[in-house]
Amino acid sequence: MSTFKDLGLSQQILATLSANGFEKPTPIQMQAIPLVLKGHDLIGLAQTGTGKTAAFGLPMIEKLLADDRRADPRNIRALVLAPTRELVNQIATNLKLFVKKSPLKIGVVVGGVSINKQTEQLARGVDILVATPGRLLDLVARKAVTLTQGRYLVLDEADQMLDLGFIHDLRKISKLVPKNRQTLLFSATMPKQIAELAGEYLTDPLKVEVTPPGKAADKVEQYVHFVPGKDLKTTILKKSLTDNPDGLSLVFSRTKHGAEKLMKHLDHVGFKAASIHGNKSQGQRERALKAFRDGEIRVLVATDVAARGIDIPGVTHVYNYDLPEVPDAYVHRIGRTARNGRDGIAIAFCAPDEIRLLRDIEKLMGIEIAVASGQAPADQARPSKGRGGRGNGQQRGNGGGQHRGNGGGQRRDGAQRPQRPAREPAPSGFAGDELLRDDRPQKSERRDHRAAGHGHHDGRPEGNRNHENRKHHGRPGPKHDGRRQGDGQPGNRRGRGQGMRRADNGGGSQG
Ligand code: AMP
Repeated sequence: MSTFKDLGLSQQILATLSANGFEKPTPIQMQAIPLVLKGHDLIGLAQTGTGKTAAFGLPMIEKLLADDRRADPRNIRALVLAPTRELVNQIATNLKLFVKKSPLKIGVVVGGVSINKQTEQLARGVDILVATPGRLLDLVARKAVTLTQGRYLVLDEADQMLDLGFIHDLRKISKLVPKNRQTLLFSATMPKQIAELAGEYLTDPLKVEVTPPGKAADKVEQYVHFVPGKDLKTTILKKSLTDNPDGLSLVFSRTKHGAEKLMKHLDHVGFKAASIHGNKSQGQRERALKAFRDGEIRVLVATDVAARGIDIPGVTHVYNYDLPEVPDAYVHRIGRTARNGRDGIAIAFCAPDEIRLLRDIEKLMGIEIAVASGQAPADQARPSKGRGGRGNGQQRGNGGGQHRGNGGGQRRDGAQRPQRPAREPAPSGFAGDELLRDDRPQKSERRDHRAAGHGHHDGRPEGNRNHENRKHHGRPGPKHDGRRQGDGQPGNRRGRGQGMRRADNGGGSQG
């Protein structure tokens, strides 16, 4: 099946799709649409950017139109839950496109903006309500809306909703929507908790999958710089940003405070930077996103929560200024680049106290991330397994000045790539970032650093030494495709919901 018509959509929807330039269904749409039309509960493993909004939105709209009713005042017919305001707005914008020439009404409910307008909107009744869980429950408590006429429940970015602690809210909400509903759950990853949630709230679900978690970023070249602390992170970041003046860079920081501070510093030294995080108002976030999308801002510093689900096709670089605590978040982060068939580069910085996080990420993805500069502390090196390994001075990669991340190095279309990180070691004198003096490595970091034999008394970053080591040995590091052999299968770690069946690619399986 390769056209929207083949998937069983009506003329009305087909006309809307072609008016909006949707010519061919994406893989998740091919798989999900026929199943949703048939009334199945569904688990969709897909990231934002794969077209999953249309994958659940189109068949849902089709069915709502066929069931020729209107929502009663203060009632809804379908509910879509998503973790963040940005994602809710993005989903609603998409759905509004699809219902343009129909009588269906889309409602939006998010925190951080006036609740009164939302109450007024709900008073008239909406067909599809897109909401963040917290604000929705507030409105339910105020009796601004009831969910008892809901026939469709979509849990989008379910893994992130769990990460953000929405599990209790989800439980409450799913009890408020009648049992004889159709439930669709979308998640980029499938941790055990999601499988449990699916087992609890979905009925005999089918599963469709377009990008297994570990492969989500196949097209992204990935590198890591081992650094002693934040100062060198900032120095390397600035050099890389300078080297890529035409790039659009998304920089991830662990904390709101850290994001703001880094953005201010980058702005101060002349980069066109903005930030989005939980301390920014909705208006500020939207302005920053628009400026970034339009290219007026070249660097957006973000926290995970704020950046979740951002769909900006032109992002060329994702920097993991801080590595995320949860390895899945790394997959989400780097999935912000290499969208819509483009290439992308993901550069991570790893301080001594982040090594464990890096190893968890590599384990999850089943890859070894190429080292752009520096060296992992001795006791935290990758298991050698006869390749590379510590002690022989070899760096992974091909040693010839070209780093390949996960084997996705060859471009299929021959177009120019975004520039890779400089092969040169990071600029020396990493303590020279006056404005970030507070970010000097903490005592424990310094201790780790020394213990790992990284002494930076000579002011040279470790990259130099790697380079020399290779020269000394007179041979390049082993070539490899970046993937571990053996048990790199992300599927192995996925839980399965009870009674879950896998749909075949043709999309028609009853399991
Ligand atoms: P999503 O994964 O739903 O956030 O979609 C990512 C982007 O792809 C959105 O901007 C959609 O409008 C767009 N999109 C989704 N499906 C298609 C399609 N079949 N053809 C063209 N664009 C699409």
